[in-house]
Amino acid sequence: MSELRNLPSVEQLLQTKLAAEMISANGRPLVLEAIRHVLDEVRGRILGGSETTVPEREALLESVSVVLDEWMTPTLLPVINATGVILHTNLGRAPLSKATLQAMEAVSRGYSTLEFDLSNGKRGSRLVHAEAVLKRLTGAEAAVVVNNNASAVLLVLSALASRRKVVIARSQLVEIGGGFRIPDVMKQSGAKLLEVGTTNKVRLSDYVETFDEKPALVMRAHRSNFKIIGFTEEPEFKDIVSAAHQAGVPVVDDLGSGTLLDTTRFGLAHEPTLQESLAAGADVVCFSGDKLLGGPQAGIIVGRKALLDRIKKHPLARAVRADKTCLAGITATLTHYLKDEAEREIPTWQMIATTPQQNRSRVKVWIERLGQGEALKGESTVGGGSLPGETLPTTLLALDVKSPDKFLKRLREQKPPVIARTENNRILLDPRTVLPEQEGALLVALQNVLRKS
Ligand SMILES: *Cc1c(COP(=O)(O)O)cnc(C)c1O
Repeated sequence: MSELRNLPSVEQLLQTKLAAEMISANGRPLVLEAIRHVLDEVRGRILGGSETTVPEREALLESVSVVLDEWMTPTLLPVINATGVILHTNLGRAPLSKATLQAMEAVSRGYSTLEFDLSNGKRGSRLVHAEAVLKRLTGAEAAVVVNNNASAVLLVLSALASRRKVVIARSQLVEIGGGFRIPDVMKQSGAKLLEVGTTNKVRLSDYVETFDEKPALVMRAHRSNFKIIGFTEEPEFKDIVSAAHQAGVPVVDDLGSGTLLDTTRFGLAHEPTLQESLAAGADVVCFSGDKLLGGPQAGIIVGRKALLDRIKKHPLARAVRADKTCLAGITATLTHYLKDEAEREIPTWQMIATTPQQNRSRVKVWIERLGQGEALKGESTVGGGSLPGETLPTTLLALDVKSPDKFLKRLREQKPPVIARTENNRILLDPRTVLPEQEGALLVALQNVLRKS
């Protein structure tokens, strides 16, 4: 193949001005690799006969630049969530408050008191930071923050029930999502499942009958992503707790999302609160940091000191411990609740509290700026394994476009990408989950895509 003789060498391409620019932006080793990659591809195409002539140097360097872009663009990117699903697990769940972000940055930028006691200059414990706020907020005797709620459940069961029995209602043997199944987690912890009741009905006597078998725990797991309706029965949680306590069996409550604020105030169904669970007598309660709490990813465990001490000492506690950014962020988010300003400062609650009228005014402005679209009544959802089936009334921007799927794809290709949905061949965008500071970028993205469609 004599044409291959026209292929420039790696060295020749490296000597060019364009390559120098790419090197200053990406470093020499990567540019070298990208040039080799492009030259190999061209060689392959010529040998394979799909190309007959070597492209110009300019074109080769352009290909190198495209390859570099592809390699260097991170796959984890900020997006604009116009779906109206507030705690969208696939889109990263809770957006964080300003104070939370500041606290996370402050401890990451330099050194911190993560495991250092300022009063005596000696080694301290990372467990104390969030614990103080959690104790004050919930009145619980002790608390610990771990990597996420899945690890919290695994840790609690491993520490308190390994090789022993855990009583749980059949209706609570749920799969939360992403393959997280309560029965599998129990097996992984070494606990033995003692199922009581049927799929739709469980009575107090079903629990009581198992107490002869000396179970280590009674567990309740929040169903999170579905409802059981119709011919159903479940005892009140406080009655389960008092029966268990009479038999000397502690009770663990996996609240899933859990909430510190009453969701009925926002026209939503009742989501079990942490305060209620503790008031009912639960000995250990765990829940997520990034669901309704509205903080960074974390699993929070609160409860009786004697049990929490065993949990903190278990070897898994080290494996699933929270890092300094998480501890700083969770503490800052919890502080909003302590200061009674959660609804005002935490984006998750701001979004939940937004009225349809406020959303309507935003949509009206969008329509004006875009010169098209229609304001449409719709529903937003909370998501994140909380409040299954519950919706919040909203106003949507509806756009009629030729090819909705292609339009959605183009929106995803914008910088930042915009995530929307379609219904009845229309594009729907919900302002509820679009942060105010993203509004300009959203309108630019929409204008870009509308112009080309
Ligand atoms: C969401 C959820 C979990 C898992 O929590 P992560 O923080 O996502 O790990 C566990 N249990 C229940 C009941 C849940 O709803």
